[in-house]
Amino acid sequence: MNLFHALDSRQPARISLTLRGIVQGVGFRPYIYNLAQRHQLSGYVLNTGAGVTIEVEGAAASLHSFIHTLPAQIPPLARIDDLQLAIIEVIGERNFVIRESDRSQSSFALVPSDICLCDACLADTRDSTNRRNWYPFTNCTNCGPRYSIVIDLPYDRPFTTMAEFSMCPDCRREYNDPTNRRFHAEPNACPVCGPKLSLSPATAEIPDGDSRAILTYIARQLISGRIIAWKGLGGYQLACDATREDAVSTLRRRKHRSEKPFAIMVAGITAAEQLCVVSPLERTALLSSQRPIVLLRRKTAANLAASVSPGNPTTGVMLPSTPMHDLLFLALRELAGASIPLVMTSGNLSEEPIAVDNDEAEAKLADVADLFVHHNRRIHTRVDDSVVRVIDDEVLPIRRARGFAPQPVWLGMGEVQVLACGAQQKNTLCLTKSGFAFPSQHMGDLENYETLEFFEQTRKRMCRLFHIEPEVIAHDLHPGYLSTQWALRQSGIRHIPVQHHHAHIAACMAEHQLRNPVIGVAWDGTGLGTDNTIWGGEFLIADLRSFQRAAHLRTVHLAGGDTAVREPWRVAYSYLLDTFIDQPPAPPSFAQLPQERTRVVDTMLRQHLHTVPTSSAGRLFDAVAALIGIHATVSYEGQAAVALEAIAADANLTEPEPYPFNLIDDASMQLDFRPMIAALIEEVLSNEPKQLMAARFHATLVCAIVRVCRKIRETTHINQVCLSGGCFQNQLLLRGSRNTLRASGFEVYFPRAVPANDGGISLGQAAIACETLRTQTISGA
Ligand SMILES: [Zn+2]
Ligand SMILES: [Zn+2]
Repeated sequence: MNLFHALDSRQPARISLTLRGIVQGVGFRPYIYNLAQRHQLSGYVLNTGAGVTIEVEGAAASLHSFIHTLPAQIPPLARIDDLQLAIIEVIGERNFVIRESDRSQSSFALVPSDICLCDACLADTRDSTNRRNWYPFTNCTNCGPRYSIVIDLPYDRPFTTMAEFSMCPDCRREYNDPTNRRFHAEPNACPVCGPKLSLSPATAEIPDGDSRAILTYIARQLISGRIIAWKGLGGYQLACDATREDAVSTLRRRKHRSEKPFAIMVAGITAAEQLCVVSPLERTALLSSQRPIVLLRRKTAANLAASVSPGNPTTGVMLPSTPMHDLLFLALRELAGASIPLVMTSGNLSEEPIAVDNDEAEAKLADVADLFVHHNRRIHTRVDDSVVRVIDDEVLPIRRARGFAPQPVWLGMGEVQVLACGAQQKNTLCLTKSGFAFPSQHMGDLENYETLEFFEQTRKRMCRLFHIEPEVIAHDLHPGYLSTQWALRQSGIRHIPVQHHHAHIAACMAEHQLRNPVIGVAWDGTGLGTDNTIWGGEFLIADLRSFQRAAHLRTVHLAGGDTAVREPWRVAYSYLLDTFIDQPPAPPSFAQLPQERTRVVDTMLRQHLHTVPTSSAGRLFDAVAALIGIHATVSYEGQAAVALEAIAADANLTEPEPYPFNLIDDASMQLDFRPMIAALIEEVLSNEPKQLMAARFHATLVCAIVRVCRKIRETTHINQVCLSGGCFQNQLLLRGSRNTLRASGFEVYFPRAVPANDGGISLGQAAIACETLRTQTISGA
């Protein structure tokens, strides 16, 4: 470092360092303290609103070594984004100290995510001689709650929901001892001074806070088929024995959730491997400090109730993330002599936000849970479990929440503070500041008052936490989205409307720092286009400012708009009518449908009554699933596509032959799948295996994507392709497109920091708004 040339190595000197990144709540100050001790340096370390400030004084050679070692050995959960150095005046201090936090700076620090239980804390809770034996709130600087309990920055106990608990002398001693693992562990607690569990309804024999007795009681209730609501880390969870069909189907009935799969939690990695096929990367994801739900392929012999994930060969599996979860499995094992998998699902009614307060949970889940396990540590921020899927060598987020939020994405642009409101489904919002974008945790579908409240609350809390006052609001074009309506109600602030599929591509571009125009393949279910039709099978030539619709799926009309999403047979009928016009053949799967319903749909389509034109790729998946006879109706969006992908994967073909399709080279290119529909229905009528047809369908889509991209490259010479939108959560489609495009010489990108589905929309909106403002400032507009 050139800085040191100015110093005489024999003379003492003093240096100040300012660090930004994830440097609070991850054991950073003790790390610096010990590093300074090792180098015999005096000075101090201090948490500020902006990060960490360090001043160190001593021999120049020691300072040199200190500064070189510092970034190389940071704690596992820390991350340094920026480090500024300056030589300052020597003051002749003797000691190195950790100073009280300074709240005066109005900038911001990055807030750590909640982190799963570490091995050392796990050992403490299992050790009968340890004072934290069976204590479910055990944590240290390497583990425990963070984002869910932080109210304000800097990350210090008084600004967390742990402020209500004052440390006992033993905990205080650990907290003040720089050599202790719990040195400045803000949520540090023990059975004497910390949060306590309680049962509701209470039983006379079990006192509040006797966690072993409570967890053992709960384990017994679970084994006998009861449904428990318990307060987890970021909200209430509903649990029941995942091997008991009666318990799981009761939970479904009470939660009004007919078929959408439930996630399960198992005691450990061995239990996961007994139930599912686990690849090395899936194993890493399961064991990662975020402890997400990982979508895994179930083994045929897996002992799970059929209604855990009906008609779906994959199951979402997670491992215990807190001591409370781990100790419950210990109690189950003590009682049953074996590991029992538990359904572990969000404590909410269908599509509402997850409950966080004790009273709220009792009120909302009264008809769902047989009993409640509460505790008295408040959850400040609601964070649901995260979901990931491993595709080849990538761990891709499906739902980004606990363990991931509120980690920012580095945009490398945009000093402007933007609020992006996201989409309607799988809503997230996103804020920007100082070159960072902060996507919120997953909030759910903005379909009810409760979710909109959650949106408002998250916006307020994130703005406060990161000291952000948005100057601009970005939102979707769709006037029906509650997020758009909310945005438009905010007056006195500039609005930037962003087209849905442009936002999907921009999210991918922002993460990969792509600035030049790309070919964006945005395939999903629904998004409003600039021509007021519903888009969803789009090929865009896009940068972060603007886009051009280069190609799309040929438009078909859907009878009854939203009803068609629930009834894939209607989409199939549209495709059949579009292909055959006069006499559409009826696939056998239509035989169960009441004739008058098909007649009504026929009339609607022929006369264009209540029909919606769409180029949606998601709907094409639905149509094919219905034609093949997999799902004529569905109970949640994407169900048919998931089933279609699963049976295509079963075909296990290396190179299934694509069906024919046309490319109509018009003003805007159109992918015409009528030849495929004609070929498909012929195979359906001659009873070809479903797996084969599903596999050939996927191969056709891959082939079509590559052919359109090549065609666009011919005229534009653009060689970078971004694949985004919910359809690219499909393993066969993503893998096939990526590999074939690469083989054709393209550079291929897809979202990894945020989901490819609508959960990623807010990041794309934010990036577009930042870039729009940046270029307008430059051009003086
Ligand atoms: Zn720990
Ligand atoms: Zn204590």
